[in-house]
Amino acid sequence: MSGSSKDKPLDEDRMDKRIAKTKLRLIIEDVQSEAVKKTLRCVQLEEELALAVRKVWTCLCLPVLDEERGDGDEERRTSAKEVAQSVRSITLHVREMDGVAYTTGDRWDDEHKEIHISANHIANTSEDRRADELRGVLCHEMVHVWQFNGNGTFPGGAVEGVADWVRLKAGLAPPHWRKTPGDRWDAGYEKTAYFLEWLEVRAGEDLLVPKLNAHLGHEGWKEGAPLCALAGSETIDKLWESYKASHNDPHRPTRAAGQPPAHPTHA
Ligand SMILES: [Zn+2]
Repeated sequence: MSGSSKDKPLDEDRMDKRIAKTKLRLIIEDVQSEAVKKTLRCVQLEEELALAVRKVWTCLCLPVLDEERGDGDEERRTSAKEVAQSVRSITLHVREMDGVAYTTGDRWDDEHKEIHISANHIANTSEDRRADELRGVLCHEMVHVWQFNGNGTFPGGAVEGVADWVRLKAGLAPPHWRKTPGDRWDAGYEKTAYFLEWLEVRAGEDLLVPKLNAHLGHEGWKEGAPLCALAGSETIDKLWESYKASHNDPHRPTRAAGQPPAHPTHA
């Protein structure tokens, strides 16, 4: 029977119920480390952990649930499994380490995820940016927790690009990011994120990335066929050439050659 249709918040409720099934854990590995102390001082980590989950679901998963919504008939709705990986727990480790951050399944079960964030990286960020940098890095890593990768067929740079696309949509792009194209469409990180953002506008498809992600949950990358279908083009090369050409517009401000490239800050 239909008729269970309620007002607007139904999908958010569903999202919250789904998120609530995932246990969130926080492990502070060395509370006497100065770097860890600085990291702990800049935000409420337990709140940021929950907020990061919500950001990823709001940007990447929930829009597709809305899109696929039937006429209030639960049977016709897209299940949460179709828009995000099945994740039973997420453990955030804050500790001294090299690099910036990484995400992994635990060694027994890939449904239990671990995010490791370098307290050194956060402590070395200027104090006025420290909280936002932590939020941005956590958001990026949280995308890796939930996103699909076409059973390993989605290019690695594109995986990183989707993670930074969510960071961008969440309003957490750091000031050093630049829109200038990278060497290739899947150069990764913000280079690919800005390409995806441009594709959405070009194709008039706001849900391009969420739909692509959902597709990669049940099918492979197939040399880019799903992205081309969403963007209305025969090949990614053609899209890439158009993107680069859009940056050659003389009225568009670009950085001079020789300036340092924006650096990828995380894995
Ligand atoms: Zn990453």
